[in-house]
Amino acid sequence: MKKNTAPTETATAQYLPGEEIAVLLPLPLAGTYDYRVAEEMTLTAGDFINVPLGARKAVGVVWGKGEGGVLESKLKDVLGRLDCPPLPEESRDFVDWTARYTLSAPGAVLKMVMSVPEALTPPKPVIAYTLNPKPEPFKPTKARERVLAVLNDGPPRPAAELAREAGTGSGVVKGLVDAGALSPVNLPARAAGPEPDWRLPGPDLSADQDKAARPLQAATKKGGFSVTLLDGVPGSGKTEVYFQAVAEALKQGGQVLVLLPEIALGAQWLQRFQDRFGAAPGQWHSDLTAAQRRHTWRAVAEGQTKVVVGARSALFLPFADLRQIIVDEEHDTSFKQEDGVIYNARDMAVVRAQLGAIPIVLASATPSLETVLNAESGRYQMQHLADRHAGAALPEVDTIDMRAEQTPSQCWVSPSLRNGLAATFANGEQAMLFLNRRGYAPLTLCRTCGHRMQCPNCSAWLVEHRRGGRLQCHHCGFGAPPPKQCPECEKEDTFAACGPGVERLAEEIADLFPKARTVIAASDTLAGPKAAADLVRRIEDHDVDLIIGTQVVAKGYHFPLLTLVGAVDADLGLAGGDLRAAERTHQLLYQVAGRAGRAGRAGRVLLQTFMPDHPVMKALKEGNRDGFLKAEAESRRQAMMPPLGRLAAVIVSGPDEAAVDATARSLGRTAPTGDDITVLGPAPAPMALLRGKHRRRLLLKTAKSTNLQGVLREWLARVQPPRKVRIQADVDPYSFL
Ligand code: ADP
Ligand code: ZN
Repeated sequence: MKKNTAPTETATAQYLPGEEIAVLLPLPLAGTYDYRVAEEMTLTAGDFINVPLGARKAVGVVWGKGEGGVLESKLKDVLGRLDCPPLPEESRDFVDWTARYTLSAPGAVLKMVMSVPEALTPPKPVIAYTLNPKPEPFKPTKARERVLAVLNDGPPRPAAELAREAGTGSGVVKGLVDAGALSPVNLPARAAGPEPDWRLPGPDLSADQDKAARPLQAATKKGGFSVTLLDGVPGSGKTEVYFQAVAEALKQGGQVLVLLPEIALGAQWLQRFQDRFGAAPGQWHSDLTAAQRRHTWRAVAEGQTKVVVGARSALFLPFADLRQIIVDEEHDTSFKQEDGVIYNARDMAVVRAQLGAIPIVLASATPSLETVLNAESGRYQMQHLADRHAGAALPEVDTIDMRAEQTPSQCWVSPSLRNGLAATFANGEQAMLFLNRRGYAPLTLCRTCGHRMQCPNCSAWLVEHRRGGRLQCHHCGFGAPPPKQCPECEKEDTFAACGPGVERLAEEIADLFPKARTVIAASDTLAGPKAAADLVRRIEDHDVDLIIGTQVVAKGYHFPLLTLVGAVDADLGLAGGDLRAAERTHQLLYQVAGRAGRAGRAGRVLLQTFMPDHPVMKALKEGNRDGFLKAEAESRRQAMMPPLGRLAAVIVSGPDEAAVDATARSLGRTAPTGDDITVLGPAPAPMALLRGKHRRRLLLKTAKSTNLQGVLREWLARVQPPRKVRIQADVDPYSFL
C-alpha cells in the first residue's frame, strides 16, 4: 500500500469494478490508501466501505481516484459497501481543510466524523406481532387467551412486551407464533419524533429585533456563504432573532446546526426552542447514551433530523443538507478543542459554512476581537441589538476598591458587598456571587514548614474539596484524602486552607446570612443536564436566594428575580501570561453582569477588585465595551499578536525530561527565520509537568499575511522526535498552559 495526497473527487464520481480508488481510513495516517473496486460493485465518492487492513478489516471512506503506483499484485479488493448514505462532498472537503489548517492527519479528522461506527449500518428493525387474520386451528390455553386479548385492543407489540402485558412467559408468545396464531411485522427501530415546525408563529419581534432578523432570514433564503455577527447586549433577544433564520432554513427544507458552549447546561435554551418550534431539536454532546448517538448520527446523515444543537463536535456530523449554522456565544473559549485534533469550532464553523456555501450567524454580547475586527473590515456583516427586550435596563456596574474596604482576614465578602446582598434579600430578590474557583480552597499549606500540597503528576496545587473530603488536581484528576501529617515536616494537623473557592464562600455566607437559601453551582456540583435543569427550576421558583457560582452560571441564563451580581474576585483572570487575559476577563465579567436585572427590576453589579483603575474594570464600569476593544486591538497590533498577527504554539512533551529538552532544543536550533517570523522559546510551559509528562513550549509568531501553516510544516519536518516524545502544533492557541 502507498500513501497519497490526492484531492477529493466530486460527489458524482463513480468507480467501477477493477478501478483503483483512494480510501481514507479514520486513523492518524498521513494520507489515503489505494484499493481496487471488487467485481460487481459500483462505488461513489463518500461511500463507507469495508477494506482489508493488514490482517484486520477496517471501515474507510471512498475519497477519490486511486493515486496509482501500487503493484497490481499488492492491490487489495474492497470487501463491501456499508448501507449508509455517502459522506457528502462538503463534509469530505471539510475533513481535508481542517486537517491542513490544524496540521493534523486527515484520518484523525475523519475519525471525529465517524465517531459512531455503529451508525454506519442501519438499525435492526424491531419485530412485533399482530393477530393473524386467518389463523390455523390451535390449542387454546388461559395464558394464550390473555395474549390474544392484549392484541385484540392494541397495536402490534414485540414478544417481550406482549408477554409482560399478558402476565405470562415469552414461551407462550413463541408457542402462538409457531402455531400460526400471530404474524410478525417489522417496526422501525425507533419512531421518528416530531420535527420542529417553522409554521408556528413565534413571539412578536420588537422593531429592533425585526430589523436585525430580516437580513438573517434573507441570507438564509438566498443561500450562499455569508457571515453575520449578531451583536446584542445580554437580554436583547438574540436567540429569538436567530430563530428566524432557523425557521427560514426549515422552510427551505434544509438542516440547521446550532453550536452552543456547554450544551449540557442549556436546559433553558432547549425549552425556548421547544416553545418556538413545538418540538425538541436533535442534541449532540458528551452526555448522550450510545443509542442516542447512534440514532442522531444516522438521522442527521439521512436528513431526517432537521436541527441539531450541540457542542463543538457536532460540527463534524455528516449533514445531508446543511443550510444554516449558528454559533451562539461565539467568543466562548470552550469552542477550542485542546487535545487530539486541536481546533476552534467557531473558526471551523465559518470554514464549514464557506465550503457548503451557506450563511452562518455568530451571536454574542461580547464578541471576540477576531470577530469584531472582521466585522469592522466588512468581511462579516453586522447586526446590532442595543437594548434589552421589553425595556429592561442594563445593570449599573460599580467597582468595590478592596484596598479601601475593611474586610476581616479569611473573609472575602467586603462590607459594601454585604450591604448589597442584605438589601437584595430584604427586597425579596435573588443575588449571584461569582467566583471562578471550584472547591473549598485553591491551596493547602503546612503552617509549620510552608510545604504546599502539590499534584504528583502536574505543576499544579491540589485544590481542597471539603464536601468530598479530598484534595484534587483540576488538571489530571488525581485525588487523595488530606493527609494527617505534613509530607515534608511530618507534623500533624498543621494544614491551612489558603484562599477561597465557592465552597468556602458558601461557608462565609452561612455566617453572614444564616437565613439565605444558598446553592453552589459549579461543574462538579452540577453533573449532567438533569442536575442543571433542576437547579434552573429551583431558581425560577424562587426556592433559592443566592447562587454562588463559577463560570458555569455566567452565561445564557435568564432569571427574572436576579437583581444583584457580585464578582468576589474580579481580578482573578488577569494574572498569568495569556494574551487574551484582559479580553477574556472583560467578557466573563460582562456576561456575569448580564445576569442581573433582566426583567424589569433594576439590576446592580458589584466588582470586588484591587485594581479599580485597570482598563477592564473601567470599561465595565463605564459600559465602554467598544473603547476597551479598540485599546485591546491596538496593544495586540503593537505586539503583532492575534488577530493582528498569527501565532502557533509548539508543545514538546514526554515522560523523559532530558529527551523532551533535547527535542525542544533541536526545534529551537532549526527554527524558521525571516522578516516577519519570530520564534520564542523553547521554555518550560507554565504547566511544565502535566499528567506525568514534561512539557516545553515554543511560540511561532508571524505577520498576518504569512502562510503560517507552511512555515510550521517545514519546520516540524526538520526534527524527528525520539520515540515517546511528542511534538504537537496548536495553531491559533487559546490556552497558554
Ligand atoms: P440574549 O440571548 O440576547 O441575552 P434572550 O434571547 O435570552 O436574550 O432574551 C431575553 C429574554 O427576553 C428571554 O426570556 C426571551 O424569551 C425574551 N424575549 C426576547 N425577545 C422577545 C420577544 N420578541 N417577545 C417575547 N419575549 C422575548
Ligand atoms: Zn495533576
